[in-house]
Amino acid sequence: MIEFQAVSKQYSTDAYALRDVSLNIDKGELVYLAGPSGAGKSTLLKMIAAIERPTSGRVIVNGHDVGRIKRAGVPFLRRNIGMILQQQRLLSDRSILANVMLSLLVTGAPRAQAEQRARAALDKVDLLDRANANPMELSGGEQQRVAVARAIVNRPQIILADEPTANLDRAAADRVIDALRAFNSVGVTCMISTHDEQVLDSAGRVIRLEHGQMTGGAQ
Ligand code: ADP
Ligand code: ADP
Repeated sequence: MIEFQAVSKQYSTDAYALRDVSLNIDKGELVYLAGPSGAGKSTLLKMIAAIERPTSGRVIVNGHDVGRIKRAGVPFLRRNIGMILQQQRLLSDRSILANVMLSLLVTGAPRAQAEQRARAALDKVDLLDRANANPMELSGGEQQRVAVARAIVNRPQIILADEPTANLDRAAADRVIDALRAFNSVGVTCMISTHDEQVLDSAGRVIRLEHGQMTGGAQ
């Protein structure tokens, strides 16, 4: 479902953010992307969603070479991908329900259907009782679970989560990972990046990155 063929990425002419990365991820896999800060984890995830493009090599998602995808094709690619990116924030001018509904409304879903599905998604991350709360009233862990709900409400085939447990305590981190694993268990391919070894568990495959190079997990 996701294939990297000798992928390298240079943001500037000297340093490599990723160097000669090759990997294969099957539909339904749970993959942890482990490595210290600066290892290239975000860069790798962004290339799957065509947020960044490889300098060389090929990134294939669902049979499409997304490094060469045209601008018009990007929305079709992203429709299949739910993203939890570090720099994405919930909108603080509206409820968490409205935040999750927005993902559906922008795709043209009718309002009543969007609300029903957003409520179902919030229920799955155990936050339905907070549907009308403002994101600012929630703990960091709860906010991340809203981000999970927002990422899955469109029923994507792939979830990309970039350091979803950063800055959370152990209990809150576990609940975020549990929510992601629940979606994986119904067939969603999940990639979760982390610099925290404690997040890794035996249920998932671990791909290791260091200085932009894979040091483990190739398959
Ligand atoms: P990680 O997610 O593992 O922390 P990143 O993919 O964010 O790693 O970064 C890998 C390397 O690429 C780092 O050296 C970082 O400074 C660099 N980098 C990331 N994004 C950019 C960018 N937009 N422009 C220039 N360098 C970048
Ligand atoms: P309902 O019929 O109440 O909408 P569903 O089980 O169809 O219940 O889905 C509830 C929510 O859970 C959906 O809106 C979606 O966000 C999420 N969901 C369910 N199945 C999947 C799946 N396979 N992939 C991603 N998200 C899913």
